[in-house]
Amino acid sequence: MSLAYVVDDVFAEHRPPIGHPERPERIAAVRAAVAAAGLEARGQRLPTRAAGEDEIGRVHQPAYVDELIRLVPGHSGQLDADTFFSPGTWDATLKAAGAVIDLTRAVLDGQVQRGLALVRPPGHHAEADRAMGFCLINNVAVGAAAARALGAARVAIVDWDVHHGNGTQHIFEADPSVLFMSVHQYPYYPGTGAPTEIGVGAGRGATVNVGLPAGCGDVEYEAVFEQVFLPALRRFRPDLILISSGFDTYVADPLAAMRVTARGFRTMARALARVSDELCEGRLVCALEGGYDLTGLGHGAVAVLDAFAPAPGRPEPDADEPDGDQPDGDQPDGDQIGPDDHFSGMHQAVEYGSVAAAAQAAIDKTQAALDAAGGVLTP
Ligand SMILES: [Zn+2]
Repeated sequence: MSLAYVVDDVFAEHRPPIGHPERPERIAAVRAAVAAAGLEARGQRLPTRAAGEDEIGRVHQPAYVDELIRLVPGHSGQLDADTFFSPGTWDATLKAAGAVIDLTRAVLDGQVQRGLALVRPPGHHAEADRAMGFCLINNVAVGAAAARALGAARVAIVDWDVHHGNGTQHIFEADPSVLFMSVHQYPYYPGTGAPTEIGVGAGRGATVNVGLPAGCGDVEYEAVFEQVFLPALRRFRPDLILISSGFDTYVADPLAAMRVTARGFRTMARALARVSDELCEGRLVCALEGGYDLTGLGHGAVAVLDAFAPAPGRPEPDADEPDGDQPDGDQPDGDQIGPDDHFSGMHQAVEYGSVAAAAQAAIDKTQAALDAAGGVLTP
């Protein structure tokens, strides 16, 4: 068990206008939480490095990269309705992508098992030819392309940000060597991510979308992992798993309406750590995407750290539980209704029951779409 990570002050130097939710305080909150959890003793810090144009160019079109180089370095401005840049943005952007590449390389080389990229700006909305949704360069896509270039035959990307990872999906949707799986609030920004989006051409079956209704919590996310993501990973047998790790599913996040708690983050992170141990010698790289509640960001980052590199001398939380952490479907779990409202009455119970049913219906739609295409692609 070993971990490498990238943290750097440069990621606070990307400064959208005051009041923008994707703000430098996000990365400060993440760094404070993982530092308090003992990050430095639990992993090795890699130096930050700017990604090269050749590395970015594996997934972004040259005209777009040229446009960014012309507009962004040293300047302030705006690339779409909500994607801004400041004089420090270009350095942060290149180093966020470089961090994911270098952690991917360290994992594939066998120097470490896991990589943790605590970076911003985020990346998963960035398309091959344009910035979108706070994202300029698609960090995880650049990392997956680097993994392929380094010889990984199959790469899986799990995107648990509350928003659909449209950019990553579109970049790889025709590529059978990259499995892209997203669970997200749906319908919601950016509008894509329908269960019927399962990949195109040779990539048909290598894109998986679970669009959950608003109000889902830990139990619904666990069900997505148990019923869809983990079986798909076992079928695909990746050489490496990348996580597009947004924590905007958190119950208090201001930009979305899910109800995931710290417990849910721990369950999801542990599930991917275990399946990576089972399938690909533990090779797992996590890159920060969204998450706009500072407490939720801290909970999420520490959950990933604990799953990736359990604190020495301390048992993994819930390590005495039976393997799998399956929620008991017959046992209402008050923790999932909300953080402080276990017994707030029949109305809430009825509402929660309908959310659970709608979530299962969403999972069933994804399964039906994949079944119609012959299941997740096995190259
Ligand atoms: Zn998001």
